[in-house]
Amino acid sequence: MYIIAVDIGGTNLRVALVDTSGKIIERWETPTRVSEGEKIVIRQMIEIIRDMLEKGKVDVGQIMGIGIGCPGPLDTKTGVIIDTPNLGWKNVALKDTIEQEFHLPVCVDNDGNLAALGESWLGAGREVNHLVCLTLGTGIGGGIIINGEILHGANDAAGELGHIIVEPNGLRCGCGNYGCMEAYASGPGITKRTIFSIKEGITTIITELVQNQLEKITPLVVYQAAIKGDELANDILKETGRYLGIGIVSLVNVLNPQLVIIGGRIAQMGEILLNHIKDEVTKRTHLEPCRRITIVPSQLSDDAGIIGAAKMIQNLIYHRGTET
Ligand SMILES: [Zn+2]
Repeated sequence: MYIIAVDIGGTNLRVALVDTSGKIIERWETPTRVSEGEKIVIRQMIEIIRDMLEKGKVDVGQIMGIGIGCPGPLDTKTGVIIDTPNLGWKNVALKDTIEQEFHLPVCVDNDGNLAALGESWLGAGREVNHLVCLTLGTGIGGGIIINGEILHGANDAAGELGHIIVEPNGLRCGCGNYGCMEAYASGPGITKRTIFSIKEGITTIITELVQNQLEKITPLVVYQAAIKGDELANDILKETGRYLGIGIVSLVNVLNPQLVIIGGRIAQMGEILLNHIKDEVTKRTHLEPCRRITIVPSQLSDDAGIIGAAKMIQNLIYHRGTET
């Protein structure tokens, strides 16, 4: 049997055919046509799935269901995307639309939750039952796994890890609050702090790397400058690790996970950032949960959401089986 797993990102739309062991048999990836609205994106998704079923080696009878990861907020019971700023969707009945199209079970969950579930099933978290997974990109997403299951909270809104406060009177965050971890340690947070320091007059090779066009600064440029030994770039990454470390300490003291997994595009900075995070957490290990915590990079990277979406369908079918 197989599962169709979908990851609707603000940048890329990924669809994969996954077997029950979590092996990706085939995958499709295309830029998400976000600016054209939800109908076009859903049509893109349907066409890829149809194509896959027509050209592939499997027929509909071999498909257990379709698992979809999408930015939230959303309702996992109704499968309605309530209001997602990353895609500009409001009250989109995603589950119903896809179910009516394919007559297969469809499940929808937050992309951060599914990345955590994927890591928990086949990635960095496969040996543990309790973990927190942070996804560092344009925003900071994440998911919490407790007793092997996603922690959804009362309204599917748990796991908004990027909005933990790390600086009470700090920078304004996209959510409207001040001092959220996301305002400092997301991609735009890193870029903004770098530009601010350069405008303050700090000299750095970053200005050379972008030919004095500050709008060209990205976290990748900061990382390249850091590995060349640039002092400002290294300070920015140290500060990023510090803010992430502060946020992680709170999460760890509240949830007592065995593992914290760092994923997403920004995590590709690897050891440099990871070591700064670990240093900050080590400084703050006053309570038992923090003394025991292990912080590791993601193992599934871009596939974590797809693998999690496949696991979600397996769990659904398993639960249905045990209910009857
Ligand atoms: Zn926020």
